[in-house]
Amino acid sequence: MTGQAIVVGGGIGGLAAALALHRIGWRATVLERTSEPGEIGAGMSQSPNALRALAELGVETQARIVGVPTHATGNLRLPSGRYLQRARPGDPAALLAFHRADLHRVLLEALPTGWVRTDAEVTAVRQGRGAGDDKGGGGVTVECGGGTELSADLLIAADGIHSVVRRQLWPDTLPRFLGRTAWLGIAEIPDLPGSMTLGPGGYFLIHPITRGRAYWAYVTTAEEPSIRYDQERTEVAGRVQDWHEPIPQLVEATPVEAVIHIDIRDLEPLPTYIHGRVALLGDAAHAMSPDRGQGAGQSIEDAVVLAAALAGEPSIEAALRRYDAERLPRTQATARGAATDGRRTTSRAARLALTTMIRSMPASLWRKGIAVDSNPIWRWRPPHLPSPTCPH
Ligand SMILES: Cc1cc2nc3c(=O)[nH]c(=O)nc-3n(C[C@H](O)[C@H](O)[C@H](O)COP(=O)(O)OP(=O)(O)OC[C@H]3O[C@@H](n4cnc5c(N)ncnc54)[C@H](O)[C@@H]3O)c2cc1C
Repeated sequence: MTGQAIVVGGGIGGLAAALALHRIGWRATVLERTSEPGEIGAGMSQSPNALRALAELGVETQARIVGVPTHATGNLRLPSGRYLQRARPGDPAALLAFHRADLHRVLLEALPTGWVRTDAEVTAVRQGRGAGDDKGGGGVTVECGGGTELSADLLIAADGIHSVVRRQLWPDTLPRFLGRTAWLGIAEIPDLPGSMTLGPGGYFLIHPITRGRAYWAYVTTAEEPSIRYDQERTEVAGRVQDWHEPIPQLVEATPVEAVIHIDIRDLEPLPTYIHGRVALLGDAAHAMSPDRGQGAGQSIEDAVVLAAALAGEPSIEAALRRYDAERLPRTQATARGAATDGRRTTSRAARLALTTMIRSMPASLWRKGIAVDSNPIWRWRPPHLPSPTCPH
């Protein structure tokens, strides 16, 4: 089965979805509301499950070129600098760290020219192709600004945690503030090993990224959302001034205007990710706490599973049912786990229990615990995307 899809949103999830459709011989138009499709100036890591999904999309090699192996899950420290666990020289690193813009560019460059339309903000969605067709049997229509409409066989809503499409079709499901906030930045300090430092009320994460830079994130508690500071870098520097090097040095080396401050939210669990000819994907479906580094990775998995279902099932409806059945349990379990991890690292009592547990754990057991074959999220394998058969 082939067809035409509209993808709302040109973030990592939307581009991965378009690329997955391209792999199975579908056509897609990605509608992105901004003028330049891109990603915020920060970093991220991807784990083996997402890297396998990228391989299925045909871009693993390109991703590995712009990714840097990181031991952030192996080097656990306390603010004093003491190691709770330490990666050994030569240990294989399961995670690759990226500048977000680099991973985004890998996906964008793999798409056929003209598939992404910018300055295209979707404002509403309707089942059916034209006026009077509201059954969804014939397709789906979106309205963009200026009264423009576009119809297709399928709509993939990859428009992020505040998804317009979800707000219209699932009006009761809302993002939730998780009582935490994060500062992110990128500094030009080469060759820093990946690490995670567990401190009072929060943690500081470091990943090396390409071109001699390091990405950092400081995640901590906040009583309410939307608290902002005149000098965000000064604020975060003050909070970690007594932490071990290179933490204060990293914050100091980050240009003031490059420090990003965002609140941590996830999404109430949805009962389903599909509605007529509409499928939610990525953060629009299952925005999660960042503590397992899985949000974007799960969106890439979504893309591959959806395309495999479209290629394998006799109808779009059957494919969407299969997508829903496969993705909902895994993504919601991952989101629950991430929220639990977040609570563990920021609540004082839970953090003390966690650090005591990690400290008392033999290094070999810790390494086994973070090894690919014992991690249920990382072990995931994507379905195979069949190449479209060429007509003779
Ligand atoms: C602090 C932090 C650290 C994180 N670290 C990691 C990590 O290490 N690894 C990882 O895998 N994930 C991580 N994540 C999660 C990750 O950032 C998200 O899960 C991921 O970016 C979601 O991608 P998406 O494409 O679904 O949505 P988004 O990235 O939100 O993209 C949505 C796109 O849709 C566009 N859009 C929105 N509305 C409309 C509209 N109406 N019409 C047209 N276009 C529209 C937007 O402009 C945007 O381009 C982290 C998140 C946070 C907050």
